[in-house]
Amino acid sequence: MRAVPDATVVAITVDPYRRGTELYGWAESVAVAERYVDAVLGQVLVGGTFERRGPLDWLWRSGAAGPSDVHAFDLSLLDVSGVRVADPYVPARFVDVRVGIAHRSVVQESPWGDDDLAHVADTTLREAIEFGAPVVIARPGMLAVARRRAGIGSDLAAASSDSWEPVYQPIVKLGAGEVTTAGYESLLRWRRDGALVGPDVFLAGLEATELIVPVGRVAIARSVEALAGPVTELLGPDAFMSVNLSAGQLRDRWLGDYVGWLLGEHGLDPARLWFEISENAVVTQGSVADRTIWTLHGLGCGICVDDLGAGFAALGYLRNLPIDVLKVDRALVSRMPSERMDRAVVRAICDLASAAGALTVAEGVETPEVLAAVKELGCDMAQGYLFGRPASLA
Ligand code: C2E
Ligand code: CA
Ligand code: CA
Repeated sequence: MRAVPDATVVAITVDPYRRGTELYGWAESVAVAERYVDAVLGQVLVGGTFERRGPLDWLWRSGAAGPSDVHAFDLSLLDVSGVRVADPYVPARFVDVRVGIAHRSVVQESPWGDDDLAHVADTTLREAIEFGAPVVIARPGMLAVARRRAGIGSDLAAASSDSWEPVYQPIVKLGAGEVTTAGYESLLRWRRDGALVGPDVFLAGLEATELIVPVGRVAIARSVEALAGPVTELLGPDAFMSVNLSAGQLRDRWLGDYVGWLLGEHGLDPARLWFEISENAVVTQGSVADRTIWTLHGLGCGICVDDLGAGFAALGYLRNLPIDVLKVDRALVSRMPSERMDRAVVRAICDLASAAGALTVAEGVETPEVLAAVKELGCDMAQGYLFGRPASLA
């Protein structure tokens, strides 16, 4: 419990999923929202100021002297949010209210700008909408998160195409004799303020904004150039390049045309270019993604299921999509020496692959013990720090 008054901002949105609009129509939904904010929220949020930001959006600011008991304040908002009857006098109307609360004392950061608390409340509200929670309360450190996201969003939009630099990690062939590099996986990096940063920094932002489509094309083009140039010089004309595709790139209906054109420009055998689709990307039959995969396959490119074993989608994929390669997820592979069940799953995947005429790649091989386990089960190829980290080819 806090005794000291504390600045608080509450971001409120009504009917974020538009269920009320669908049932009651727009004008009635807005009227219900106004009545609710007046009659219900007005009782709970006292002393501060309401700002109307849109037909269904409000912001409440406490001013410098916020609630003295933060916990009681949060609970009182929880009581009146979520899906609820809007107005006891009109029982057939419900409202769906989502709330993001930012207490300065909880977020605890400095220095603060004028609108920082509102920015944090908005970030928190977005989480409430995304996760379907009635109320989310901003956590310590959230201002840094909000600023970082905003900074990355604008930097990504402004990034030039030559700031995207794939690095390449060897994929080795496992045979009776020595392991030899058969090809590379292309892994994207972003040159930002002089440093090269990885997908953990930028991928979610690219995917959320669909910028993954143009940026992904740059990555594919650079990887195809590398395949035609240094990779062929290093490994010969049979070497392959494997490129990751996100769900958003699969929704690009011109991707197949673009890839076909690129391969033609470089005079490359399409079978040397592989595409990795994560097991977690939902590909429904008849969707654009489904057609894109079939188009890439029709060009002659290899289709890989990535991160196999991390989710449960792969069995459906094997039945419905033209799969050439199964890449077994690092988490599963790394546990093989110690976990009997994980070995059994990988063994089943290898059996499945041979029945389907697909190749297997074990990802994330870091130690000789894991390599031995992977070889014993008959995986065709392997990838991981044991053979090489992602690096530039120059
Ligand atoms: P992924 O496709 O599963 O790629 C493998 C990740 O595991 C890479 O991380 C790689 O650096 C890392 N890795 C490889 N071997 C080992 C190992 O032995 N031990 C450990 N601990 N890690 C290993 P990275 O480069 O950070 O990429 C992360 C993810 O970002 C990739 O996961 C992929 O899903 C995505 N991604 C990367 N490049 C692209 C791209 O060009 N386009 C798209 N759409 N996604 C990309
Ligand atoms: Ca991959
Ligand atoms: Ca993977």
